[in-house]
Formats: sequence, structure tokens, C-alpha cells
Amino acid sequence: MENLKIIQGDITKLTIDAIVNAANKSLLGGLGVDGAIHQAAGPQLLAECRQLHGCETGQAKITKGYKLPAKFVIHTVGPIYSGSKQDIELLKDCYINSLDLAKDHNLHSIAFPAISTGAYGFPAAPAAHIAFTAVRNWLTEHSDYQMKIIMCAFDAKTAELYRTEVKK
Ligand code: ADP
Repeated sequence: MENLKIIQGDITKLTIDAIVNAANKSLLGGLGVDGAIHQAAGPQLLAECRQLHGCETGQAKITKGYKLPAKFVIHTVGPIYSGSKQDIELLKDCYINSLDLAKDHNLHSIAFPAISTGAYGFPAAPAAHIAFTAVRNWLTEHSDYQMKIIMCAFDAKTAELYRTEVKK
């Protein structure tokens, strides 16, 4: 799919309409990609996040990007891995709800980190499969809308899993 690309690197460096943050339910910052995004965006991001009063798992909320090169940040909350079937649905929801929100705001490019695969413990291989299935289905269902999706792997292992998925 030409609208679906993989990169390996730091999502905070991307000049794009929106980057997705793998946030926690408080939306008040954390470790990993969340910490990196708040660090790069500056304190105004946290100030806007405080007005949002948190976010449920699988849902998504949007803020401006402030000092980031990205115009907007879409904050979504991945499931904390438990091994239940619900984890799969909630992870899928993160990708779908983020894309729906981007489209609602007339955005045309979005980059995702590997949601839930860090501190939240989702195994990387099934998470990659769920992520690619979700975004591919979304692109197929919205083929009349121009959306460029970047799947941003931070580490080499995730990048390799993504390359395997994109060939499927
Ligand atoms: P979660 O709590 O959803 O598991 P983490 O931030 O702990 O979120 O990890 C999610 C993924 O984000 C991991 O694969 C991690 O390697 C990756 N990551 C961490 N920092 C960055 C970054 N600056 N850019 C892109 N991905 C990142």
C-alpha cells in the first residue's frame, strides 16, 4: 500500500500533520514515547492535556503540537497487556480511533509509535500484526480520503516485524 510506510527512528522529529502518543489514562505524561513527546513539545502541551481530563483505554484525544515539528498530537491509551482477548480489540481501537480523529480534523498524514509494546508489555509481534491489520483495513474503508500513514519503529526488532507485516 503506497499510503503506508515504515520508518525507524524518533517520532518527535517528524514533520507531519499528527504524531500519535502512546499515553496513559491521565494524559499527564509518562515515560517512553510519552515522555519524549512532552519533552520535545514543551510545557504548553501538558497545560492543554490538563484540560482534557484523561482518556479511556482504546480512545483518542487531540492537542496541538506546540514546539514539535508535527502540527498535532493524537493521544491514545493502549491496553496494559493482560493476555485477554480484550487487549486485541483495545489495541485495534487505538489505531482506528486515532485515524478517525485525524480525519475528523481534516489531517492527511499521521505517524504511529508501537502502542503498548513498551511499558505496557504487549508482545511486539502480535502487536505489529494487529497494528497493520487495523491501519490497512482503515485505509481500505476510507479509500476516498487521502491519508498517509507512517508506522514509526523505534528499535530494529520492531522495524523488522513491521517489514514482515507490510509484505503480507
Ligand atoms: P506503552 O506504555 O504504550 O507501552 P512506551 O512508550 O513504553 O508505551 O512504548 C511504546 C513504544 O514506543 C515502544 O516500542 C518504544 O520503543 C517506542 N518509543 C519510545 N520512545 C520513542 C520515540 N521517541 N519515538 C518512537 N517510538 C518510541
